[in-house]
Amino acid sequence: MHFPSNDTSRSPRSFLSLMESKLDVPLFIEDPDRIPTEAVPDNYVAYTLKHQEALPPITWSNWYKELHWLHVFILFVPPTLGFIGACSTPLRLETAVWFVVYIHLTGFGLTAGYHRLWTHRAYKATKGLEYTLAILGAGVVEGSIAWWARGHRAHHRYTDTDLDPYNAHRGLLYSHVGWMIFKPRRKPGPADVTDLRSNPVVKWQHKYYLLLAFIMAIAVPTAVSGYGWGDWRGGFVWASLIRLVVSQHSTFCVNSLCHWLGDRPYDDKLTPKDCVITAVITMGEGYHNFHHQFPMDYRNGYKWYQYDPTKWFLWTCEKLGFATHLKTFSDNEVQKGELTIQLKNLRHKQEALSWPCEKSDLPVITWEDYQRQAESRALICIAGFIHDISDFFDKHPGGPHLLKKNIGKDATTAFFGGLYDHSHAAHNLLAMKRVGILLGGAPHGLEEKVVPPSQHLRVTRHGDLAENAHPEVSL
Ligand SMILES: [Zn+2]
Ligand SMILES: [Zn+2]
Repeated sequence: MHFPSNDTSRSPRSFLSLMESKLDVPLFIEDPDRIPTEAVPDNYVAYTLKHQEALPPITWSNWYKELHWLHVFILFVPPTLGFIGACSTPLRLETAVWFVVYIHLTGFGLTAGYHRLWTHRAYKATKGLEYTLAILGAGVVEGSIAWWARGHRAHHRYTDTDLDPYNAHRGLLYSHVGWMIFKPRRKPGPADVTDLRSNPVVKWQHKYYLLLAFIMAIAVPTAVSGYGWGDWRGGFVWASLIRLVVSQHSTFCVNSLCHWLGDRPYDDKLTPKDCVITAVITMGEGYHNFHHQFPMDYRNGYKWYQYDPTKWFLWTCEKLGFATHLKTFSDNEVQKGELTIQLKNLRHKQEALSWPCEKSDLPVITWEDYQRQAESRALICIAGFIHDISDFFDKHPGGPHLLKKNIGKDATTAFFGGLYDHSHAAHNLLAMKRVGILLGGAPHGLEEKVVPPSQHLRVTRHGDLAENAHPEVSL
């Protein structure tokens, strides 16, 4: 069996071999799992991109020479024929129902089979289910399992780099179809496919792929419509051609739209995103941020209510005994990722707000000095802090007279219940008016009141904590 390697780059091997023999160190490392210890690079991707020669970029003068004609045929002929046929072929109700049923059946071949079973080993399937998914998956005409899974494993391993065959940073159109229309500029990064090489179903499907693809993409959908309700033409146009185009572009959206549309609730290091719209388009693969973080989980929609028909299909297969060992990541780890992003968002929100002056930025004032300054400024001492309330007289809900009579005095007790037990909002606002610290600080028992309620909980970066613990480190 020959597994495709996508190796279309012009190899720099002869030059590199010469250099290697001279330097006695490999310049280009083919397999990151077999790197000689004396040549371990700091970063495999950066090292490989630097040393592995790529094909020249596609330009207006060379694009027609760089087309991948088989892919161009597969991507352009069915939609063209389908569109022409659809203009003159009415869609009968039976054929429409069959269209929906068959798009899901072949779709499960891709999502439950190609993707979650063979690429990610998210569960174990009986031989019957394996053959069924391999046959159904061929009906979407996206290459054999062996070719597809090899590229997708590289996509996960080198996401958003030029070793990722559908690198999202190269644009929405490139990650959708561009990477297939043109010959790849460099081969995908290495990925381990030894398990697939020894899988009899994968080998069988690869061997008979063209025949299976024709039967499942064209013959079966047409024949079911034809023999079933006499709609041969409708079966060919709608259930075969149009269904094929919709199926293919739905899957391509996993590489394009799922890296472009939505949010990143589990990690924001890379481009994959979660979005209910792409989940609907891709039969559940749209929770792509979760999927890239936890690729061996049989679910993409982690939460029970998230639209992931592939997850429900696999769950049903397990109940029926066709699938076993459905893998799930620990909830604790999933929630840790989710909390990290939530804290990051809270940190952004926190940083966008104004906060009271830090203690270390405030001048220390003696009681006498405080009283002297209070003769010319509206200063009030509460919980060891001196506050300038000049701009607050008219805004004080209790009226200005209560403020005026406490100027130059210690109003701690009055503020915290002696006269009126102020709200948390009032305490937060008061802290914004701090202009100094009273020498000697707040009396014992007021430690809690020194910190305004809005600062009892704070999001602090790891670096900030380390700096506070070892201030000398930051010097
Ligand atoms: Zn992805
Ligand atoms: Zn995946």
